[in-house]
Amino acid sequence: MLIVQKFGGSSVADAQGILRVAARIVATKKAGHDVVVVVSAMGDTTDELADLAYQVTQTPAPREYDMLLTSGERISMALLAMAIHDLGYEGRSFTGSQAGLITDSQHGAARIVDVTPFRLQEALVDGAIPIVAGFQGFSRETRDITTLGRGGSDTTAVAIAVAMSADVCEIYTDVDGIFSADPRMIPKARQLPLIEFEEMLELAAAGAKVLHLRAVEYARRANLALRVRSSFSDHPGTLVVANRSIDAEGEPVMEQPIIAGVAVDRTDAKVTIVAVPDTPGVAASVFKALAAAKVNIDMIVQNVSGATTQRTDITFTCPKDSVPTAIAALEAASDEIGYEELITDEGIAKLSLVGAGMKQHPGVSATFFSALAVAGVNVELISTSEIRISIVTRGDRVADAARAVHQAFGLDVDGEAVVYGGTGR
Ligand code: ADP
Ligand code: ASP
Ligand code: MG
Repeated sequence: MLIVQKFGGSSVADAQGILRVAARIVATKKAGHDVVVVVSAMGDTTDELADLAYQVTQTPAPREYDMLLTSGERISMALLAMAIHDLGYEGRSFTGSQAGLITDSQHGAARIVDVTPFRLQEALVDGAIPIVAGFQGFSRETRDITTLGRGGSDTTAVAIAVAMSADVCEIYTDVDGIFSADPRMIPKARQLPLIEFEEMLELAAAGAKVLHLRAVEYARRANLALRVRSSFSDHPGTLVVANRSIDAEGEPVMEQPIIAGVAVDRTDAKVTIVAVPDTPGVAASVFKALAAAKVNIDMIVQNVSGATTQRTDITFTCPKDSVPTAIAALEAASDEIGYEELITDEGIAKLSLVGAGMKQHPGVSATFFSALAVAGVNVELISTSEIRISIVTRGDRVADAARAVHQAFGLDVDGEAVVYGGTGR
């Protein structure tokens, strides 16, 4: 078998972690498998490098920022190769560029355009264990180093697994797989043996950072077997599958949980455009201006217009980082849109409930909103998809809201999930 193993920052947080991971990799090799490793920067190194950049300048040049951040993975990959040497095997480290991860030239959010893992194949032929630096690539166009975006090592691992036709891609982290909620927020969260790609996509998009959203999309497109598990235990973890109502032998699974889990996202802000004319074309002007400024919009709500004023409010959410850009774009288009005022609110958070079973089961919304009502949580915005309900509420109430909903859907377990490492940063 060819196995791609990705180790996140908390798994290689210190020298001891590097040694533990090296032993794990060598054990897989000894079991007769070919292994390709993808590794993240040690612990919170990437955050520390980012902090350092912002101590030097408020406006780091994107090219230099990527150059800086990618240095974290160079440290862990070289140390891991050295530790593997001591166990009698050859670890051979590669930067993203050496590994053939070709991206476009969008610094900080580069898309993979090609994967040419010749040097990794060569290493395998030589009996070595290739170790690839996560989350980075190389643009042919600019001949510069790029990054895939924070948390992108998962996507590196999946891209390499797909390009090399690996049998499985294992994502090693600091918890025993994917849970029905972030175990740091809800210790009674339930470990899920299986989750569907579609559910994991919704959870990742809703803020569950256990997997990078793009890694899930990529794996789904290629139908790659993806397993999330702990590098600190032997727990089998969670397998991400196309359909969890069929087991590994193709037999139907009878008792299907309706809900996979809940996720919380605190990264968005809410912007209200007050008193826009309730006439055709106004919403188009608003969202055209925001799109031209490359602001990613999540939820949108338009109120009913006042009977006398013929004006209405439009509210949307977008990443907090994009608020200054969004405001500038709306101000530049203010004559065309014709609003009275812009109000921003950074004190919000989003709670999402996700489950493939929602499609067939009525009453999910009723249980969801009743739980929020009992917990005294005020709902400010609502949006839904076929398998998700999301609400926006106050940031300081969202953890209570999540716990109430988690309990209402019977997801709480006795005992507490183990968080083996990491700072949750
Ligand atoms: P790594 O450093 O291994 O990439 P991350 O910090 O990116 O690890 O992701 C693992 C973390 O994701 C866990 O420690 C946990 O706090 C968080 N998390 C959020 N939602 C979930 C969930 N539904 N299941 C498991 N972990 C989750
Ligand atoms: N080290 C990078 C980050 O912290 C990439 C990753 O860990 O996935 O974002
Ligand atoms: Mg991660």
